[in-house]
Amino acid sequence: MNRAYNFNAGPSALPLAVLEKAQSELLNFNGTGMSVMELSHRSQAYDEVHNKAKQLLKEILRVPDSYDILFLQGGASLQFAMIPMNFLPQEKKAYFVLTGSWSEKALKEASKIGKTDVIASSKEANYTHIPYDFQTENLHDAAYLHITSNNTIFGTQWKKFPKTNIPLIADMSSDILSREINVEQFDLIYAGAQKNLGPSGVTVVIIRKDLLEKTNNYVPTILNYQTHANKNSLYNTPPTFAIYMLSLVLEWVQTEGGLLKIEQRNKEKAEIVYRAIDESEGFYKPHAHQDSRSNMNVTFTLPSKELTQQFLEKAKEQNLIGLNGHRSVGGCRASIYNAVPLEACEKLAQFMADFRKKY
Ligand code: PMP
Repeated sequence: MNRAYNFNAGPSALPLAVLEKAQSELLNFNGTGMSVMELSHRSQAYDEVHNKAKQLLKEILRVPDSYDILFLQGGASLQFAMIPMNFLPQEKKAYFVLTGSWSEKALKEASKIGKTDVIASSKEANYTHIPYDFQTENLHDAAYLHITSNNTIFGTQWKKFPKTNIPLIADMSSDILSREINVEQFDLIYAGAQKNLGPSGVTVVIIRKDLLEKTNNYVPTILNYQTHANKNSLYNTPPTFAIYMLSLVLEWVQTEGGLLKIEQRNKEKAEIVYRAIDESEGFYKPHAHQDSRSNMNVTFTLPSKELTQQFLEKAKEQNLIGLNGHRSVGGCRASIYNAVPLEACEKLAQFMADFRKKY
């Protein structure tokens, strides 16, 4: 079987064991005589899948009972709009820490709905680091503070989260389930699934129940968080297959030994690739500052555009796929999410060393 070493940024690699399980159940799920995709979303067979995904997420991320877990659609991008629609009243302000393109997009959407402000930003430095140094004590008009825990495009990641009395909202699309977190530090966490959680199509929202009570009742029913919370994310037809895949990925996380094991492995994997950069005597230049390096997306540049092109072509010949940087920053990016095996990182590091010697 010729599986690629898949460094795609998202949609991205899924665990082979998960794909094989899905394959084995594709035509006849759990004795139903049909695929999960063909089940009614109101059937008991699907209900079990739905609730299992929710329960496993609760266990693995240690989500307290004071939070609800929702399965929504529209990607993380819809959350950029839904959050201010529900939680940004006219008299208040949404504060943002800008750490990359995705936080800019979240800010842009919130600005269409209400008042916003940027409390810290590394934009001037081309988003090379997380700006940790800011105060939130005097923001008496704050509705919430929004951060992006991992910056998929620039390859930076928050290593510690702000301690604040303001409701804290985090876009964790590209690093949820990659490390242990204390859910109680946050009021709302959201993540599109297509990196560490499963295929695209489902967006996970973890929300404090007391925040749920503050939703704006004038927003359309489908855009109100309460609608989905009250109906166990079955108000309308959910993305059943994506949620099924999520449940398989969560089972896989458990069989791999849980989140702490996954976190340790992710650190090890990232160290292998960063070492290849650091030992290259400046041939590969890291984009992110040392203290902000992402363990999910490793970004770097080569000495010229021509070498970058050659690097990508030669990598492809070795079955190392998806290493091109985002079109907005260029260079290279290795996305090494949970399902990317250690072996793929070793193979990449070896390729990087060999390429450097030759060129
Ligand atoms: N936030 C982050 C951090 C992302 O990486 C992405 C997608 N790559 C998004 C938001 C947008 O997600 P979606 O395409 O699911 O709307």
